[in-house]
Amino acid sequence: MTVLVTGAAGFIGAYTCRALAARGDQVVGLDNYNDYYDPALKRDRVAALCPQVDIRRLDLADRQGLAALFAEVRPRRVVHLAAQAGVRYSLQNPHAYVASNLEGFVNVLEQCRHGDVEHLVYASSSSVYGDSATPPFSEDQRVDRPRSLYAATKAANELMAYTYAQLYGLRATGLRFFTVYGPWGRPDMAPLLFSRAVLAGRPIEVFNHGRMQRDFTHVDDIVAGVLGALDRADGGERHEVFNLGNHTPVELERFIDVIAAAAGREAVRHYRPMQPGDMVSTMADTRRAREAFGFEPRTPIEQGLPPVVQWCRDYFGKDA
Ligand code: NAD
Repeated sequence: MTVLVTGAAGFIGAYTCRALAARGDQVVGLDNYNDYYDPALKRDRVAALCPQVDIRRLDLADRQGLAALFAEVRPRRVVHLAAQAGVRYSLQNPHAYVASNLEGFVNVLEQCRHGDVEHLVYASSSSVYGDSATPPFSEDQRVDRPRSLYAATKAANELMAYTYAQLYGLRATGLRFFTVYGPWGRPDMAPLLFSRAVLAGRPIEVFNHGRMQRDFTHVDDIVAGVLGALDRADGGERHEVFNLGNHTPVELERFIDVIAAAAGREAVRHYRPMQPGDMVSTMADTRRAREAFGFEPRTPIEQGLPPVVQWCRDYFGKDA
């Protein structure tokens, strides 16, 4: 049974490919290797994590190419992780989000409904909770007041998948990831930005004057959740959403302290005001995922962060 992973050269995608291949699944990936961040990092990541996986260079906007790939591979399961990510970037580059997250998503839905796909698992985000919800976020809280276009496209994905489930019986599961980190992570996100800055002795820009909390979640825990959701026997509802988070919000200041300790250097902090689009606090209520497929995050930041700092040292070198 073939699994198609979109965004396979991305951070979560490459780990997902690795885990699926390790348990013997037939895996095919796709990715457009875009330059939102250095494509060389994507290639190195694939070489390090899932070199045996067949990853095709393809853009989700290429409808013909996508149709040809589905016709060739005939995936029974699809893990859709390709997206234009990033909250702040969406303020400057709105069209990239429409192209990849809306246009691209409907192209994937169309292929799934016309193909033999028994289950589509797709990435949503904690950012859908926006201004409507209060932490801990549970799945039945409102998600209709996003703080950024990125969040709006992720909330729209959930509505779109719901529609396809109702209209065409497509089985779809949305996973709301909460700030994912690990080695080979995203260079635009705080865990890598902070680690590299501390290693190089550069100041860290700390937004909202440090009064921020994030439910930082290790990529191994996320991948375990993705596989758990993918394997779950049909629960009856054709479309469901689940939070995947660590259920332990961490103050930004403490997060930086752990990085500084791992780096063996002082962190120089420059305090900045709140950025538009950002959320002050995120925290996942993970009961639904625990009950449905035994999701149990296991990695505290004290355990998960030092290997990230070490990886930054090894990969980016002395100047990080
Ligand atoms: P990533 O940017 O590392 O991976 C996404 C991959 O998709 C990239 O390799 C990119 O080249 C590819 N891609 C983007 N647009 C494409 C297109 N039009 N066609 C083909 N490929 C395309 O990001 P990630 O952190 O691995 O995120 C994976 C998914 O999880 C995304 O949907 C993201 O929105 C979501 N998510 C991530 C986090 C997080 O903390 N990392 C949190 C919430 C949600």
